[in-house]
Amino acid sequence: MSWQAALLLKQQISLLDYLQGQGWKPARQSTGGRLMGLCPLHCDHHPSFLVDPNRNLFYCYGCGRGGDVIRLAELYHGVRFADALAVLRHWSGLGSLLPDVANFYQMQLHRHGEAVAYLLQRGLHQAEVIEELRIGYAPGRCLRAWLTSLGYSLETLQQAGLVNPEGHDSYSHRIVFPLDGNLYGRSTGAATPHRFLPGSKGGLYAWEKVRECPEIILVEGMFDLAVLWQAGYRNVTCSLGSHLNAPQFRQLCADNGKRRTVYLALDSDANGSGQTAARRLSQRLRAQGITTRRVELPNGHDPNSFFVGGGNAHEFQCLLERACL
Ligand SMILES: [Zn+2]
Repeated sequence: MSWQAALLLKQQISLLDYLQGQGWKPARQSTGGRLMGLCPLHCDHHPSFLVDPNRNLFYCYGCGRGGDVIRLAELYHGVRFADALAVLRHWSGLGSLLPDVANFYQMQLHRHGEAVAYLLQRGLHQAEVIEELRIGYAPGRCLRAWLTSLGYSLETLQQAGLVNPEGHDSYSHRIVFPLDGNLYGRSTGAATPHRFLPGSKGGLYAWEKVRECPEIILVEGMFDLAVLWQAGYRNVTCSLGSHLNAPQFRQLCADNGKRRTVYLALDSDANGSGQTAARRLSQRLRAQGITTRRVELPNGHDPNSFFVGGGNAHEFQCLLERACL
């Protein structure tokens, strides 16, 4: 991409829109229409991040970093200039597209018995939870035609990763969860279990809803989160994998990180790899002053299989109370 194209992209993308798309919120107004908020680039406890929407620039009084939207993307995602451009181009192209995709897949869910059967098999039966998570179903072979009828070009759909180079829907026979700037698809069959669109998986799921909670339960998978919601636990967030990316780790540390207890309810693998991952994460969070508790699920279980296997809210509560430091 040429410098001219980079310049154009910089003018097209509002820094404020991009920040808000990543879950950033201004804490207060400053002079000249400028905004102050917590810095998304370091573990900030008092708003020290200044955004000037008119000049499309930022500066942090805490970590001393500043610049334009491309610089922000470089620092935020920890990538080089060329990759930051790719991330931004991808993000700007997804603006209206992802909500259209999510709506379409949501409409498909109840038209396909196999999708509802899969949800039941994973212990998900509450209509309100399914609705609130905007769970959908990608049957395959129909998204491309639908989006084309809405006016999206094939090129746009391929760039977003929704249609593969052969021209077929990328998501097929998958339960779909819309994320912030991405789309998670869980295979109901033998295909690769997990699929995301190219680009970042984004921050922690529904972080805005839990960030004020003094106790937060962190899980790896969306089906873990869904059954916990059903069981009445709303202080749950999900990292979509056992590895936290840099923005997710910063979210756990930011704001009132030091007043927060994080319950790590990660998968308990028979070979112990999940437990090792939880111990490492626990150490990294403690180094930031955060209290952590490791929830010990029965061997070979994750929160989803715990509930599917007959576990109930009371038994899960006992696990939380027994969780070790
Ligand atoms: Zn900073």
